[in-house]
Amino acid sequence: MMKSSKGKDNGSSLFSLKEIPCDNQIRNLLDPVPASKIFGAFQRVYKWLKKQGVLKKFLYLNGQILIALDGTEYFSSKKINCPHCNCRHHRNGTTTYFHGCVIPVVASPNRKQVISLEPEFIKKQDGYHQQANRKCCG
Ligand SMILES: [Zn+2]
Repeated sequence: MMKSSKGKDNGSSLFSLKEIPCDNQIRNLLDPVPASKIFGAFQRVYKWLKKQGVLKKFLYLNGQILIALDGTEYFSSKKINCPHCNCRHHRNGTTTYFHGCVIPVVASPNRKQVISLEPEFIKKQDGYHQQANRKCCG
Protein backbone atom coordinates (compact mmCIF):
# COMPACT_ATOMS: atom_id res chain seq x y z
CA MET A 1 0.00 0.00 0.00
CA MET A 2 2.84 2.41 0.87
CA LYS A 3 4.58 1.62 -2.40
CA SER A 4 1.47 2.35 -4.45
CA SER A 5 0.57 5.54 -2.54
CA LYS A 6 4.05 6.98 -1.85
CA GLY A 7 6.26 5.17 -4.33
CA LYS A 8 8.32 3.72 -1.48
CA ASP A 9 7.86 1.22 1.31
CA ASN A 10 9.78 0.29 4.47
CA GLY A 11 11.22 -2.78 2.74
CA SER A 12 12.99 -0.63 0.16
CA SER A 13 13.69 2.36 2.44
CA LEU A 14 15.07 0.47 5.44
CA PHE A 15 16.36 -2.78 3.97
CA SER A 16 17.07 -1.88 0.31
CA LEU A 17 14.74 -4.64 -0.90
CA LYS A 18 13.83 -4.44 -4.58
CA GLU A 19 10.76 -6.61 -4.03
CA ILE A 20 9.04 -7.71 -0.83
CA PRO A 21 9.06 -11.52 -0.76
CA CYS A 22 5.69 -13.29 -0.67
CA ASP A 23 4.46 -15.03 2.51
CA ASN A 24 5.53 -18.45 1.25
CA GLN A 25 9.06 -17.27 0.44
CA ILE A 26 9.41 -15.71 3.90
CA ARG A 27 8.22 -19.00 5.46
CA ASN A 28 10.69 -20.97 3.34
CA LEU A 29 13.51 -18.77 4.61
CA LEU A 30 12.48 -18.64 8.27
CA ASP A 31 11.01 -22.11 8.92
CA PRO A 32 14.43 -23.81 9.22
CA VAL A 33 15.64 -21.19 11.72
CA PRO A 34 15.10 -22.38 15.32
CA ALA A 35 13.10 -19.93 17.45
CA SER A 36 15.90 -20.01 20.03
CA LYS A 37 18.17 -18.28 17.48
CA ILE A 38 15.77 -15.33 17.31
CA PHE A 39 14.94 -14.98 21.02
CA GLY A 40 18.28 -13.34 21.77
CA ALA A 41 17.27 -10.40 19.60
CA PHE A 42 14.25 -9.66 21.83
CA GLN A 43 16.46 -9.63 24.92
CA ARG A 44 19.16 -7.49 23.29
CA VAL A 45 16.63 -4.93 22.05
CA TYR A 46 14.95 -4.78 25.49
CA LYS A 47 18.29 -4.25 27.27
CA TRP A 48 19.32 -1.61 24.72
CA LEU A 49 16.01 0.26 25.11
CA LYS A 50 16.38 0.15 28.89
CA LYS A 51 19.97 1.42 28.73
CA GLN A 52 18.97 4.25 26.37
CA GLY A 53 16.17 5.34 28.73
CA VAL A 54 13.42 4.52 26.27
CA LEU A 55 11.77 2.08 28.68
CA LYS A 56 11.20 4.93 31.19
CA LYS A 57 8.81 6.51 28.70
CA PHE A 58 6.58 3.43 29.05
CA LEU A 59 6.32 3.48 32.86
CA TYR A 60 2.76 3.88 34.13
CA LEU A 61 0.83 3.53 37.39
CA ASN A 62 3.56 4.44 39.89
CA GLY A 63 6.45 3.39 37.69
CA GLN A 64 5.12 0.00 36.70
CA ILE A 65 5.66 -1.68 33.35
CA LEU A 66 2.40 -2.82 31.79
CA ILE A 67 2.57 -5.98 29.73
CA ALA A 68 -0.27 -6.83 27.36
CA LEU A 69 -0.65 -10.45 26.25
CA ASP A 70 -2.25 -11.75 23.11
CA GLY A 71 -2.47 -15.31 21.86
CA THR A 72 -2.15 -16.36 18.27
CA GLU A 73 -1.90 -19.51 16.21
CA TYR A 74 1.03 -19.65 13.82
CA PHE A 75 0.19 -23.05 12.35
CA SER A 76 -3.19 -24.64 11.71
CA SER A 77 -4.19 -27.64 9.63
CA LYS A 78 -6.85 -30.33 9.45
CA LYS A 79 -4.42 -32.69 7.69
CA ILE A 80 -0.85 -31.98 8.73
CA ASN A 81 0.21 -32.55 12.34
CA CYS A 82 3.19 -33.45 14.49
CA PRO A 83 3.63 -34.91 18.01
CA HIS A 84 3.80 -31.38 19.44
CA CYS A 85 0.52 -30.17 17.95
CA ASN A 86 -2.36 -29.00 20.10
CA CYS A 87 -5.71 -30.08 18.72
CA ARG A 88 -9.29 -28.98 18.62
CA HIS A 89 -12.04 -31.57 18.07
CA HIS A 90 -15.10 -30.35 16.20
CA ARG A 91 -18.68 -31.59 16.51
CA ASN A 92 -18.61 -32.77 12.90
CA GLY A 93 -15.86 -35.25 13.81
CA THR A 94 -12.96 -33.35 12.27
CA THR A 95 -9.86 -32.25 14.15
CA THR A 96 -7.83 -29.09 13.72
CA TYR A 97 -4.16 -29.34 14.68
CA PHE A 98 -2.42 -26.16 15.65
CA HIS A 99 0.59 -24.49 17.23
CA GLY A 100 0.04 -21.34 19.22
CA CYS A 101 1.92 -18.82 21.27
CA VAL A 102 1.37 -15.91 23.60
CA ILE A 103 2.91 -12.62 22.47
CA PRO A 104 3.79 -10.22 25.30
CA VAL A 105 4.38 -6.53 24.62
CA VAL A 106 5.32 -3.65 26.89
CA ALA A 107 2.52 -1.13 26.42
CA SER A 108 1.56 2.22 27.87
CA PRO A 109 -1.55 4.37 27.43
CA ASN A 110 0.87 7.26 26.84
CA ARG A 111 2.67 5.65 23.88
CA LYS A 112 1.59 4.76 20.36
CA GLN A 113 4.35 2.14 20.11
CA VAL A 114 4.77 -1.15 21.97
CA ILE A 115 7.93 -3.11 22.73
CA SER A 116 7.71 -6.75 21.70
CA LEU A 117 9.06 -9.32 24.13
CA GLU A 118 9.91 -12.91 23.27
CA PRO A 119 6.87 -15.10 22.63
CA GLU A 120 5.94 -18.04 24.83
CA PHE A 121 4.99 -21.15 22.90
CA ILE A 122 1.86 -22.94 24.06
CA LYS A 123 2.81 -26.56 24.62
CA LYS A 124 0.54 -29.55 24.76
CA GLN A 125 0.16 -30.40 28.44
CA ASP A 126 1.06 -33.84 29.77
CA GLY A 127 -1.94 -35.69 31.16
CA TYR A 128 -4.48 -33.77 29.12
CA HIS A 129 -5.54 -36.94 27.31
CA GLN A 130 -6.31 -38.80 30.51
CA GLN A 131 -8.14 -35.94 32.20
CA ALA A 132 -10.32 -35.29 29.22
CA ASN A 133 -10.69 -39.04 28.62
CA ARG A 134 -10.34 -38.55 24.92
CA LYS A 135 -7.75 -39.16 22.30
CA CYS A 136 -5.99 -36.05 21.14
CA CYS A 137 -3.66 -35.57 18.22
CA GLY A 138 -3.15 -39.20 17.28
ZN1 LIG B 1 2.60 -29.77 15.21
